[in-house]
Amino acid sequence: MKTARIVGSDTAYPIGKILCIGRNYAEHIRELGNETPDAPVIFSKPASSVIGDGGTIVIPPYSSDCHHEAELALLVGRKGKDVPKEEALALLAGYGVAIDLTLRDVQAELKKKGLPWDIAKGFDTACPLSEFVPAERIADPQDLRIRLAVNGALRQDGSTSLMIHPVRELISYLSGIFTLEPGDVILTGTPAGVGPLVSGDTVEAEIPGAGSLRVSVK
Ligand code: MG
Repeated sequence: MKTARIVGSDTAYPIGKILCIGRNYAEHIRELGNETPDAPVIFSKPASSVIGDGGTIVIPPYSSDCHHEAELALLVGRKGKDVPKEEALALLAGYGVAIDLTLRDVQAELKKKGLPWDIAKGFDTACPLSEFVPAERIADPQDLRIRLAVNGALRQDGSTSLMIHPVRELISYLSGIFTLEPGDVILTGTPAGVGPLVSGDTVEAEIPGAGSLRVSVK
């Protein structure tokens, strides 16, 4: 079983569902030539896709174009259903950083056919995830920098201030569809700068103050 840990505490949450938001930053929507959705785009990854700091990404043999997407990750600490925006942040136990790995070639084919994205987004190792800092340490989740470097070269450098749907809105919206439970993780979308990873790469993702992660590609 995969667990999410809070830094500096013995608390470990068995990871439940991983809910992910697509197209939440305008610049990233533009770089992929997508349309801006009216409501948040939602998909999920299985808990089995998680790897931790120091882990190894294994790109499945059915893809030759695996992209990194660095994202602010939220760890749910309390159960919530139909949570108003004003109370949404109180549901969180912690903040961290994740990489939403995406098989861009596979996803493009699936999109064309109108099929679900699971095999492009949910394969083993598709969700590198840091430890989480306690939620009370983050004064404003819309004022965080998200950076990702490959082999030391900066590829993504964005700010959560640029989210189309801010964190409290996402939690409120998701909780109207799914009961949120302790151990659930929410990935909030990626800023611009996504790009391919290849065998031998070292990837570092960081949200200063919230978490960091270093993984390699097999
Ligand atoms: Mg993403």
